[in-house]
Amino acid sequence: MTLREVFKIKFRKKIFIIWLIFFSLIILQSNYVKAGLQYNISYEEKQNEVFVNTKHSEIHIEKGYLNKKEIYEIAKKIEQGIVRVKDYLGEEFLAMDTSKYKIKFYIRDGNFISNAGGRTIKLSYVKEKNAPYIHEIVHILASYNGFKKWISEGLAVYLNDYLGGYPSPPNFGKDLDELSKEIIKKKELKEVLSFNNTYVNPNMVSQEKRMAFYILSGSLVKYIEEKYGKEKLLKMYNSININGVIDKSFDEIKKEWITYVENL
Ligand SMILES: [Zn+2]
Repeated sequence: MTLREVFKIKFRKKIFIIWLIFFSLIILQSNYVKAGLQYNISYEEKQNEVFVNTKHSEIHIEKGYLNKKEIYEIAKKIEQGIVRVKDYLGEEFLAMDTSKYKIKFYIRDGNFISNAGGRTIKLSYVKEKNAPYIHEIVHILASYNGFKKWISEGLAVYLNDYLGGYPSPPNFGKDLDELSKEIIKKKELKEVLSFNNTYVNPNMVSQEKRMAFYILSGSLVKYIEEKYGKEKLLKMYNSININGVIDKSFDEIKKEWITYVENL
């Protein structure tokens, strides 16, 4: 082989690699464009954050926290999530005019509990794909006139699984009924079955009891939906007294559910 031929082969190899990189970039880019078009995602890098717009949301992401692929994924999930929660609730139980207002998301790095208030959601653990984004969307979109934490947290926990959100606290994708069965067996957690509102307060109860409260609430809400239907569940969600919706007391329903869970 002459020097020239060796050079030629090396050169071809180089060209091939350059083409490969070029095509991968095009494919990657076209995936963003596809996701962008399908979900109306617009992407803008600002000085301190990345700003993403979807049809129903405005997402502010801490700069340097997520790469472009991760940003498109969470934007797509959030948009899908809002539509799914909206469809689940239906017009009657929707608390926010989603054609007029968007939900604002702040996505940040760090160890904090995701939360929702007004029309704003703060999300942690997006990079780990554990962010309870559907849970928080439910808190904003479900109109809530009651004062019972078990039903508002229970609906959020249940729908986070049911509507295909990331595996998130408190159950991380595990079966709510199976986990509840284990909790009910534990003597030291029995008190949580009072479903007192204080169990959502991290300053007043242990982390274990707080998580137990969320899991039991999710399972109870799931039970009510499966046994009495979505309509009745959402009516209960909005009323101060559940007896007005079902001709049973809370204790009676709770007893039915405990029997159901214990016999799984
Ligand atoms: Zn919650």
